[in-house]
Parts: sequence; C-alpha cells; structure tokens
Amino acid sequence: MLKIYNTLSKKKEIFTPLNPGKVSLYTCGPTVYDYIHIGNLRSYITADLLNRRLTSLGFEVKSIKNITDVGHLTDDDLLQGDSGEDKMLKKAKEEHKDPYEIARFFEKAAKEDEKKINIKKSTFTPRATEHIQSMIKMIEELIKKDFAYEINGNVFFEIEKFDSYGALSGNSLENLNIGARLSDPHPDKKNQWDFALWLKAPKNHIMKWESPWSVGYPGWHIECSAMSTEYLGDTIDIHTGGEDNIFPHHEAEIAQSTCASGKKFVNYWVHTRFLLVDGKKMSKSKGNFYTLSDITQKGYLPSDLRMLYIMSHYRSQMNFTFTSLNQAKKNRETIQKTINRLKTKNKFKPKNLCINKFKDDFEDAMNDDLNTPKALSSILNLATEINKTLDTSSISNSKEILAFLNNSVQNVLGIKIDINDNQTIPAEINEILTQRAVARTNKDFKLSDELRDKLKNLGYSVEDTPTGQKLTQI
Ligand SMILES: [Zn+2]
Repeated sequence: MLKIYNTLSKKKEIFTPLNPGKVSLYTCGPTVYDYIHIGNLRSYITADLLNRRLTSLGFEVKSIKNITDVGHLTDDDLLQGDSGEDKMLKKAKEEHKDPYEIARFFEKAAKEDEKKINIKKSTFTPRATEHIQSMIKMIEELIKKDFAYEINGNVFFEIEKFDSYGALSGNSLENLNIGARLSDPHPDKKNQWDFALWLKAPKNHIMKWESPWSVGYPGWHIECSAMSTEYLGDTIDIHTGGEDNIFPHHEAEIAQSTCASGKKFVNYWVHTRFLLVDGKKMSKSKGNFYTLSDITQKGYLPSDLRMLYIMSHYRSQMNFTFTSLNQAKKNRETIQKTINRLKTKNKFKPKNLCINKFKDDFEDAMNDDLNTPKALSSILNLATEINKTLDTSSISNSKEILAFLNNSVQNVLGIKIDINDNQTIPAEINEILTQRAVARTNKDFKLSDELRDKLKNLGYSVEDTPTGQKLTQI
C-alpha cells in the first residue's frame, strides 16, 4: 500500500485514487525562457518517481505537465534580460525575434533534458498560450460567483472571499497582514494580497490577447487551474511541484479552482524540497548554477545525476556536490558491474540466492512515501550479496534476480543500467566513430561535427576526451 506525504494535511496518508485503478497527476512544468537547471530536474524526478511507482503498482496514470510560455516580456525585458551563454537566445534578443521562438527553443531543450535523464513523457504537455480561452472562461466564472473583480481592464481574485485561503502554506490573510507589506502592490487591488487573474497589457507588451476586460495577458496562477480542469477534471488525485510553488502559486490555484467549481481541487499535494549546490542556494551570479549539459560535459552520464537524486529523499534538502556525484556514479557502476557479472557464466557449483528480503525491503521503502535512499540500499545490499556468492558459486536463480533488478532499478527508479562499455556497439555506429576519428586527425572539424550530429540522430552522444571519443547512448 502506497503512502504519500500530503503537504495539505502535513502527514503521510494512504493513497486512494478518486477512480479505482486510475490516477490523475498534475505537475507544474517549466517556464521556457531559459534552460531548466538541476533544481528543476529534482522536482520533475519526484513526479516521475511517483508516476513510475504508481504504474508499477498497476495504476493507469494520466499525467499533465504544463509549459509556461506566456511571457511577461516587453521590448525592454528582451533587451535587458540575462542572456546567459546561449548564442541563439542572444541573437534572438538582438534581432528582436518573436518570444514564441525563444519559448519553443527552451521547451525543446527542457524536453530533451527530461528524455536524457529518463523522465517518462507526460500524457499531455499543454502550453499556456494555447489555453487562453479556458483561462478566460474560468475568470468569467470567478467574476460571476463574486470571487473576482475587474478594475481598469485588470481582474483580481479577492482572497478575503475565500475562507480557506492559507490552508496549504499557512499564509492566511490574517497571517499575511501581520507580515511585511508588499513593496509595490498594483494600484487597482482592493487588498494588496489579492492576486492577478488578468492584466491589461502595456503598449509595448509582446504577448497579449483579446478578453472581455482588456487586451492583456493572464496571471501565472490561472494557467495551471485552467489546464488542470480541462485535462483532468475539477478534482484531481495528485498535484506536484517544488516547495517554492507552495506559496503563492499553489495557494492561488486552490483558491481559483475551488471557488470556480465549488469542489475540492486536489486530494494529495506533493512538494520537493530545494536543492543546494555546495551548501548554497544555486545562482548564476555565484557561479554554482548547473544544467544537465554542464554535468554531462564533465563526463558524467545523466543516470549518474538521476542516481544522485535518488540517494536523498525528495522531502529532505539535497546538497549537490561533485563528491556526492562521484559517489552516485560509483553506485551506478556497482549495480552495472554486478549485473554484468551475474550474466557471465562461471565454473563454480550452482547455488540458489534467496532475494525475498531484498525485494520486500525495496517494495516497503518505495511504498513509504517514495523512500528512495532506503530502496537503493536494498539494491546495493543485494549487489554485495550477489558478488560475495559469485566468488565461490554460480547462482542458479540468476534470471529471477536479473528480472528483479531490471524492474526495480530500470522501471521503478528509472536508472538506465544496460548501457555500458561492455555492451556491443552496432557496426554502423562504430563505422561513424572511425570516420570521425579520421576527420579529427585531419582537423576537419566541420565533418567531425556533422558526424557527431549523425550519431545524435541515431541515439548516441559522443564526447572528445584526452583518451579519445567517449560514446554514450542518449
Ligand atoms: Zn502550476
């Protein structure tokens, strides 16, 4: 039986879906104006682990991860924004490219990163810009039911009208009023804590739409409420996000959805805690900001990073260091080597290795609010036992053990383990590698890059290391 910690009730609860055998799962997805970083990925991995766990328990999961592509970009923002290292974005900004192009570029990059780290594709990844009508409909409903008001073409949610405001985060109106004031509240708000559902666009605003109130753009929170309702219905089973989403984003989602439908919005709220880098908050200016490519460029596999996420529980703060990433890599290699050894015949007498205890430990840990560090321990303990046994015997039930490892490590934890130096590289790939090595010797870097792209299309990435080309299956 799966137990999950519910941020709303602040305790672990037995998971019971609304409809037997089916689960609706919503995840707040990326804002596509920059590359996703390893902190974003941690939160998406939690949703993926939940999805995989539920699937392995036999549930049919319908999952949504939205794409926040509604920009609040003005010409000025485009010119002043942090351009990062990316040449295309820099060029897009310089040439005043359409923000849609920028959004699509980073959406693609985010999806590629997710694929590399083996995050299962969501059932739907709706874009906010393609669901403006659903948002307008929900805002109209909120105005009709007197939970929202319009002034000067702007629409705000009136939080005083919703008694349960603050139930998720503890930030009730009363508590908010005790705290600091907002530095620059919108002049049209009745209460500074009311939040925007629709804003009238300033003249130079690029992304804007017609609405009953003004030519403008939606507030951020409304997109998730509208898309969740459209794809999953008024009430959903699970909603996930990072802990920074709890307030104000998820609090606002609850207010909008509950008031619009008159029904409970979400049964289980799941939040992943922050990721620190070297004990500090990750930031570009501190130089401790990492994306998945930054990690793989240093010679690690995406699976190494995934292993590192799994080594800490999603509700505890995670501190990313390269020392811990090395440990993660070691763990992955240990499992891989054990599997390879298990597959290889030896000359010793066969012996049965009972794995029930390891299986039970793994299942119990995963059912206990996705306790992945504990689940991983059971796998590593089993690996030790296998290696010890293989020193003096062969294992008669190796097929059963391999099936368990394949299911637990690959399917449930999502760590790719079959890709290894031991695996044979297809002849076609080897041929391209040879051509590329020749091209590089001849300093024909154009051809070398073309061959790298060719390999990429065939599902392999190649890196140039001091010892030669290093091939990785993507
Ligand atoms: Zn959201």
